[in-house]
Amino acid sequence: MTSDIEFHFYLANEAQTIKLARYFAMAFKETGQRFARIHLSGDLGAGKTTFSRGFIQSFGHTGNVKSPTYTLIEPYHLPEITIHHLDLYRLGDPEELEYLGIDDICQDEGICLIEWPERAGGMLAEPTLILELKHLQDGREMIAHSHYPQAIAWIERAQSHFESDPQIKD
Ligand code: ADP
Ligand code: MG
Repeated sequence: MTSDIEFHFYLANEAQTIKLARYFAMAFKETGQRFARIHLSGDLGAGKTTFSRGFIQSFGHTGNVKSPTYTLIEPYHLPEITIHHLDLYRLGDPEELEYLGIDDICQDEGICLIEWPERAGGMLAEPTLILELKHLQDGREMIAHSHYPQAIAWIERAQSHFESDPQIKD
């Protein structure tokens, strides 16, 4: 069994969460990827939607990005790619995922960003990238992990952008 490679990021404030999301979007394009299933884990208020907002806006979306708490899913048809943003916090029964068309989206093209993937009761396809956000006393920590070589190359590139940003200090 292949084990995941983990990367840790310290996010001092909301602006840094958004910045990291932008670097993930940039690195995705630079590494020529077309497909990702991203699971975003973390408590309420950990920054999952903040990250999603920065990420989706980096692909050209100009409006706001809210957690699709009641509709569960929100598609963004953007010039280069389609992103489906899901928030499964209020998913009543994992069977409902079928009605959302989960089997048809994000199979081999586009990006799925899934908040609260734990609520799906194992009904989701394996993620290509897992992002875990944790509250710290001051700010947040994000742990990114994957065992897919492509996703690892993607994280490494995002990390190198983030670490060479002059406004990010350890
Ligand atoms: P979630 O979707 O995980 O429930 P949200 O992104 O909706 O969380 O809310 C996160 C809250 O935390 C927002 O108020 C945001 O401004 C704030 N926040 C985001 N990133 C950070 C950070 N790195 N440090 C401190 N506060 C943050
Ligand atoms: Mg949210």
